[in-house]
Amino acid sequence: MKALITGITGQDGAYLAALLLDKGYEVFGVIRRSSHRGVEDHRLRWLGVAHRVTLLDGDMGDLSSLVRIVKETQPHEIYNLAAQSFVASSWRQPVLTANITAVGVTNMLEAMRAVKPDARFYQASSSEMFGLVQQPRQNEATPFYPRSPYAVAKLYGHWTAVNYRESFGFHASSGILFNHESPLRGVEFVTRKVTDGVARIKLGLTKELRLGNIDAKRDWGHARDYVRAMWLMLQQEQPGDYVVASGRTTSVRDMCRIAFAHVGLDMDSHVVIDPSFYRPADVEILLGDASKATEKLGWKPEIGLEDMIREMVDVDLERVRTNQERA
Ligand code: NDP
Ligand code: GDP
Repeated sequence: MKALITGITGQDGAYLAALLLDKGYEVFGVIRRSSHRGVEDHRLRWLGVAHRVTLLDGDMGDLSSLVRIVKETQPHEIYNLAAQSFVASSWRQPVLTANITAVGVTNMLEAMRAVKPDARFYQASSSEMFGLVQQPRQNEATPFYPRSPYAVAKLYGHWTAVNYRESFGFHASSGILFNHESPLRGVEFVTRKVTDGVARIKLGLTKELRLGNIDAKRDWGHARDYVRAMWLMLQQEQPGDYVVASGRTTSVRDMCRIAFAHVGLDMDSHVVIDPSFYRPADVEILLGDASKATEKLGWKPEIGLEDMIREMVDVDLERVRTNQERA
């Protein structure tokens, strides 16, 4: 089996590549040309799989590159994970976010339609689409209410995947994944910002950690668990849409407390609220109901929040201690 992953250099792309390689897949990935050649694959290297994947130059904004890549690789499965994925940046770069996170999905689906319409397609949709939540627990039937240019773009991508399934009979599935983290999470996201900050404070490099809205609540899981759900969706006879979540919601404040407590520190002595991290509109609470994924895919998360945060703190302590890049 051959799989093509867009966004292979990101957190989920790296874990998914490792999972698929374990299952015997030949794995191809789209990589953006950068002047920093040699560092883009750091997550794949961290997982020890960089030498086992084939990377091809392309960009989600460049349809011709995607057509060429699908032609060259002839994948059985396409996992569309590439995106401008950081909510806060989406207000600063709304047009780019729309071009890549939204229209990029159409580009990928058009490349597939032109070259390999029988491939199975996964779209990385997001719980951010629920935004101003319309039900206390969100499932596949919950109405969407996006709260950022990122979430609006993801909604476009989600409906585009559904539409290609209904219009052309594509085996296209959309995974509505709630927040998932790991030691490979970008340092701008709040969990990793906290675990990196805790490591720096513990090792005496800094004294404070500046955060925004710490009353926000998220349903957090581990990326290693969540990429398994992606793969399971594409193994089903019928395509479909699935919520993937832990079913537990925790405030940023409480997540932070777990991280500080792990190294014997009190967060109240170090966390400073900095309004510059407030967002023009925030998502105050998310809580997912993954019953459909459990029933139809047999999926269940295995790693809880406490274990995940402790793993992230331990890895960041080691990174900071040995002067490794923050990425
Ligand atoms: P990351 O930000 O870690 O990875 C994003 C990937 O997209 C990177 O490989 C990045 O490449 C690539 N990319 C960005 N722009 C382009 C472009 N123009 N052309 C080609 N590739 C591009 O995200 P995650 O791994 O955390 O998330 C994977 C997907 O799942 C994303 O679509 C995200 O929005 C979505 N998602 C994530 C959730 C989470 O909690 N992690 C929750 C729900 C959905 P580069 O390395 O060059 O920057
Ligand atoms: P998101 O759910 O995809 O936006 O993931 P993030 O990890 O970026 O943010 C989760 C929540 O943490 C949001 O409600 C943010 O407003 C909140 N938050 C509070 N302080 C910070 C901060 O300093 N950085 C980030 N990224 N988020 C913060």
